[in-house]
Amino acid sequence: MTPDHPRTLVAWAEAHAGRVNKVLVIGLDSAPPALLFDRFASHLPHLARLRAEGAWGPLQSVIPAITIPAWACAMTGRDPGQLGIYGFRRHLHSSYAPGRWVDSTDVRAEAVWDTLSRHGRPVIVVGVPPGYPPRRVRGSFVSCFLTPDVHRPATHPRALADTLATIADRYAADVADHRGAEPDRLLRDVREMTEQRFRVFRHLLRAGAWDFAMMVEIGLDRIHHAFWGSCDREHPGYVEDGPYAQTILDYYRLLDREIGSVLQDAVDARTAVFIMSDHGAKRWQGGIAINEWLRRELYLVLRSPPGGRGPLQPEMVDWSHTMAWGQGGHCGRVYLNLRGRQPAGVVDPADAERVLSQIEHGLSAIAAPDGRALLTRVFRPETTYRECRGAPPDLIVYFGDLDWRAVGSVGANDLYVTQNDTGPDQANHATDGVIIAHVPGAVAERLDGLRLVDVGPAVLRILGCG
Ligand SMILES: [Zn+2]
Repeated sequence: MTPDHPRTLVAWAEAHAGRVNKVLVIGLDSAPPALLFDRFASHLPHLARLRAEGAWGPLQSVIPAITIPAWACAMTGRDPGQLGIYGFRRHLHSSYAPGRWVDSTDVRAEAVWDTLSRHGRPVIVVGVPPGYPPRRVRGSFVSCFLTPDVHRPATHPRALADTLATIADRYAADVADHRGAEPDRLLRDVREMTEQRFRVFRHLLRAGAWDFAMMVEIGLDRIHHAFWGSCDREHPGYVEDGPYAQTILDYYRLLDREIGSVLQDAVDARTAVFIMSDHGAKRWQGGIAINEWLRRELYLVLRSPPGGRGPLQPEMVDWSHTMAWGQGGHCGRVYLNLRGRQPAGVVDPADAERVLSQIEHGLSAIAAPDGRALLTRVFRPETTYRECRGAPPDLIVYFGDLDWRAVGSVGANDLYVTQNDTGPDQANHATDGVIIAHVPGAVAERLDGLRLVDVGPAVLRILGCG
């Protein structure tokens, strides 16, 4: 590595600004380096070609490493604290109920397409979360998997929806019921959704002028969650020679073919191409029932024992004796029941740090069922983010560095569970996604330490807008 070697995406973009006047981004939700760069690499010729003239490497996601906020952070250059978006839901300290779903209106910072639109530069955006409701850009915008009726994508301009219906009549923003669906049906639906999305993207690329075009394919995330165990010998649910042993590889091949046809159709010598993911994926070892642990340690007190396993509902909790409660997901979130902040808060703000430290140490000490240490990581928002807008959790927990998922339900009567809150699951997210940044004629270079939040600023820099 030479001393002037660009070490950040923005530096790389600066070094190549002026050589291109268009940027095309294809997002593969949850693609991990271990599959894209290693295990499947020899089966993916179009991606290999891009790597041969590009910078590539693992892409460090945000904390928490989940789809929303990750894509929003990537395309605004802000961290989750700056956006005040810490997950799929928007928590409010004034209520114990789960917050409403985050949508595109919660992103108050300018994303790449907003900045470019303001500069009069045409854009195409398809399926980038959180992309519902659609943003009013200079160009075309198709909503993301958060679209309420996944079979009726919302668009800007509105008339674009009619065009979609004629060129991709089975277009879907997401597959319906992707958790717990019958595997053959799910696989068929995901593959069809992917082909339709790429068809729409190619159509838009051909239909008009653009300086920036981006699509995100959510299908890969659905495939990882549903089929990881069939393709991974180390997975607790692996079955030798099972019917889905090649499913994930076959889907990566489909993505590679589709990417190849976009490159052939729409990419010229003045176009930079970014292939990226928002976070990685890894095998799921199981779930840790975070609220069951908080109950055992008497931080969380219920009015009466739960009748069976189910979600923790606010009305089940004796808030006058509860110091903290948790939410599950790819990671765990812990909220203190703080006096003056929560409606029935009991923890004195002067005691908050002591209680949080105790919980942090207790969660970090949870071992695997066989007694092995889990290497759990616990994050404090105030030291993780540049600022903390909205209502961040007091602790964010990566059980076993995300080998284990956090499960929010109560009543399992065990700390370790084999079913996720939302149904069967075979994969969890991982902290590193991927990036390939390609400019025709550039030198192939593997870079380490690249960060998701630098992608948006790098795009603007390379287009001379940032
Ligand atoms: Zn994702």
